[in-house]
Parts: sequence; C-alpha cells; structure tokens
Amino acid sequence: MKRAKLYSLPLLFAGVALPLSAQEPAPIEAGVAPPSGEYAPGVDVVHYEVEVGLGYGVLWFEGITEIQVAVTEAGPTLPLDFSGLGINSVSVDGRESDFDHTDGILSVSLGGFDAGDTATVRIHYEGVPDDGLIIRENVHGEPSAFVDNWPNRTRFWLPSVDHPADKATVRYTIHAPAEWKAIANGHLASEPTPSPVDAIGPEGERLTWIWEVGVPISPYNMVIGAADLEVRTVGLAACGQAPASRRDDGCVEVTYWVYPQDVEKAEPSFRRAAEMVDYFTEIVGPFPFEKLANVQSATRFGGMENASAIFYSERGIASGRNMEGTVSHEIAHQWFGDAITEASWHHLWLSEGFATYFGAQFFEVADGIDDFRRRMEESRLRVVGSDDVNRPIYDPEERDLFELLNDNNYPKGGWVLHMLRGMVGDDVFFEGIRAYYARHLHSSVLTEDFQAVMEEVSGQQLDWFFQQWIYEPGYPTFEHSLTWTGDTAELTVRQLQSASWPAFRVPMEVEFVVDGETIRRQIEVEGRETTVRIEGLGAEPDAVVLDPDHWVLKGGR
Ligand SMILES: [Zn+2]
Repeated sequence: MKRAKLYSLPLLFAGVALPLSAQEPAPIEAGVAPPSGEYAPGVDVVHYEVEVGLGYGVLWFEGITEIQVAVTEAGPTLPLDFSGLGINSVSVDGRESDFDHTDGILSVSLGGFDAGDTATVRIHYEGVPDDGLIIRENVHGEPSAFVDNWPNRTRFWLPSVDHPADKATVRYTIHAPAEWKAIANGHLASEPTPSPVDAIGPEGERLTWIWEVGVPISPYNMVIGAADLEVRTVGLAACGQAPASRRDDGCVEVTYWVYPQDVEKAEPSFRRAAEMVDYFTEIVGPFPFEKLANVQSATRFGGMENASAIFYSERGIASGRNMEGTVSHEIAHQWFGDAITEASWHHLWLSEGFATYFGAQFFEVADGIDDFRRRMEESRLRVVGSDDVNRPIYDPEERDLFELLNDNNYPKGGWVLHMLRGMVGDDVFFEGIRAYYARHLHSSVLTEDFQAVMEEVSGQQLDWFFQQWIYEPGYPTFEHSLTWTGDTAELTVRQLQSASWPAFRVPMEVEFVVDGETIRRQIEVEGRETTVRIEGLGAEPDAVVLDPDHWVLKGGR
C-alpha cells in the first residue's frame, strides 16, 4: 500500500437496530504480529464462500461465510479470527456445531476429521463492524461500504484464518442497494440481478452481485466495496499473458470505479494504468488475476493493493491531485505482495520494497531515466533522513504491524533491489525476477526464497549482500582521498557511518577525471577503510566520483 495519514470521519448514520440475541464480544486489538510458528496448525483454508447483505445508509450488515478447510492433521480445531460481530449459528458439513468465541478467536472443533479430509464450516453472523468493513458516508456525504483489511483487520467482517500465508479462492455474493455498484476481487461471475426478497441483510430494493476470484489470495487482500460508483474503462492489457482471464480474447480489462463527482478528476491518475499492466507483464511475468479495477474507496491508506481490485483513498482522488505514482506502486503490487506474498509480516519488504522499486521503474521507461533517478533520489533522501534505519529491514522484534510501514520496508527495500540490479546487471537481475515470479506465483515466501533464486540465476553467493542490507541496520557513508605517486593512484575509501552500523561490502564504479576525460574503474570496498591501487590513469586525476550512476545507497548529499 501507499502510506497515508489516517483520516477520521464522524459517523453520521443514526437509528441502527441491533438484534438483541447477537453476542457482542469486545473487539480485539488488530495490527499486532502473531507469534512465530505455524498460525493455524492442522488446517489449510482452500475456499471462502462469502455472502454479505448491505443496506442503504445502514451500519448493520449480515453475513454468511462458508469456509472449505483441508484438514492436514487429524482432529484439529479451526481457529478463526473473528471479532466484534454477533454469531447466529455455526455448522460443520451441514450440522449445527458447538463453538467457542473468546478474545476474537472463533474455535470450531473438527474432531471427527482425518488428515486429507475436507470440512465445510458455515458461520452466520451480523452486527455493526468495528473495523474492516467501513460503512460510512463518503467524502461527498453519500453512503458507502468498503473493506479495508491491512494487515489483519479482515477478522472484523469475515471469519477467516487472518494470516497472509493462508491463501484461498473466494466467491462473493453481495446483496447491495440498487443505487450502488458492487466490486470485489476476481471476475464478475454473472450480471447483477434483483436480490431475492429473503436475501440476508437490511431490507430495501437491492441487487445481487457475484464476484469470484479463481486463484488463491491472502485474507488481507479479500475485499468488497459498494457505493454509487461510475465505471470507466482504461483499456485491455496483458493480452495472451493473463492465464486467469475469463475473457475470450485472453486480456484483462483495466477500469476505474469512482464517485460520480470525481470522474474527471480521476482520469489523469488512471490514464496510463493499462500501460503499467503491460509494462509489468513484460518485465516480470503474466498478469496474475482476472481483471484490474482501480476503486475510489474508504481505505485509510493512500492506496491499498487488494488483488485485482485496488482501493485508493477517496480524499486523494477527490482532491484532484495526480496519483500516478501511487497507481504504479499499487499495480506493481499485483505481482509483488498479491501474487507472491510475504509468508511473515516481518518480510514486508518483499511486498513494499518491490512495489516501491518496480512502481518507480515504470517511469524509467515511460518518462525517461531522469524521472526514475529523481524518484530514486527522493527514496534515498527518505532513508538518510529516517530514524527507522537504526533497525534492520527484517525486524522481528517490532510487534506493531503498522510500525512496519516504515522507511526500511519502503524506500530502503526498494534500494536493496536497485543495488542488486546494479551489481548483477540488468540481464541477470530481470531474469532472476522472472524466475522468482514464475516459481512462487500464488504462494507465500520469505527473503531466503528470493535470495535462493537470485543466487541460482546469477551464479553468485549473495549471503553477504542480503545479510548486510536486510538483517543489519543502516547504510554506508563514504569519504575518499587519493594519493598520486607519479604513475599510480591510491584511492582510500573510508566508511564514516555510525559505529553501531556495520561496515559494508560494496562493489561500485569509480569515475576519474583525467585531463578532461573520464575513466571508470570497478572497485570493491569492505571494512571501515579500503585502499585500492588504480593503474593506468596516465596522469593525476582532477576529480574522483564514487558511484557516478547512483547504484549504491549511501549517506551524504
Ligand atoms: Zn505498497
């Protein structure tokens, strides 16, 4: 996602009726990292069948979620994250089941099931969500309902194994007011039809929308949204390179869904969205989902990369400012974060660092190298101006997941990729990226999985590189001096960064200006002081520039 300030809006709806029978457990604290180790042992969610009934200007909603669970160890308990809503009933394979709902965990016993079995657990629930499903007036004072899950707030509207590593397919049946359009992940399985009179949720004239995502996605990516929205088509993209597409032409449709008041303001932000999809398809691999909708929404973030249904800050779009940088970042996330997901929150740079870097790369090709370098320099200045970098990128001691939205996982993570590219070269770097994507598509990974692919493709041992950049804090700040002995130069490079940061091993180019000519040499520094003999310059250099093409993250101007 793109970080943004949290806007708080007053809740303006009134007259909400709560059923008296509903249990109302206290909301749990979301945004806390789960303990390490297997999150929900013995079970693997395969599919969520989600039915949601929404009303016009009504905060209360009703849901039925059927969860298909593959049992991996005999007799497990299914520990569903579920918080703040009342449970009407729970059944397992059609038979009403006992359950325990304590401290935000809905535990359903699968006692009679063996490894290899599949169980279907159905939960019927209702209430006013504390979070996750944001039902409120939008920026124009119109009613709306949008999901905003990151990192683990899915539990506030959808009983789920709310962890990024447990991916599943989803089918949504959304009964929404007839004034609204409803959007979700995946493809529209059928055109909206009038809702049955006994459909769940508040009464009123409603339409039923069925969306289906046929490839597995992480719970934090599972979203629905409904409001008075206008839909515009940007174009078709990834034609012949979108295996999940349900279209006859094998393309994905790229659209934007915005409030009627903001249609014109949104256009500049989304104008190149199909080009972005084509660009990432070309450099990374096939587009992973069925379509790509860009949606103005109630997300608390500047943009949230939900698989195939990206949600953007409604205020950002209503302000009319060009959000193309955010759009490119969120579209890059479809490959990195969504199709390949960090298996642990503490490897978030695999999502945010990649989206930051690839999002900027679109502009390298579309708008030229100077635009790209300006974006990288902005990123570098954020790193060198940040206290976050006193901690390593991989920082398992940080339990507050929102604190991981920091200058390590975003700009420094992006710079790690840039340095790797500079070191192994474009051909090897992009071959490695394509191999990583092809190998781990639709699964969850850790940093070592990425490192393994890059080592394989480059033929280089990269442990030192990942160790110093991901598992250690800081970055180097260089100072250099040159002595000339009459025919040989001796270049000394000192690392001036804090003693609490490591000394970095850095291969880099050095440019010498000799009699108005530039001569470049490759050096490698290691340790707090490195002296390198440079032969063949011919005369004493007038100037020395370390890393003239800006491939290395370093302190200073
Ligand atoms: Zn992001």
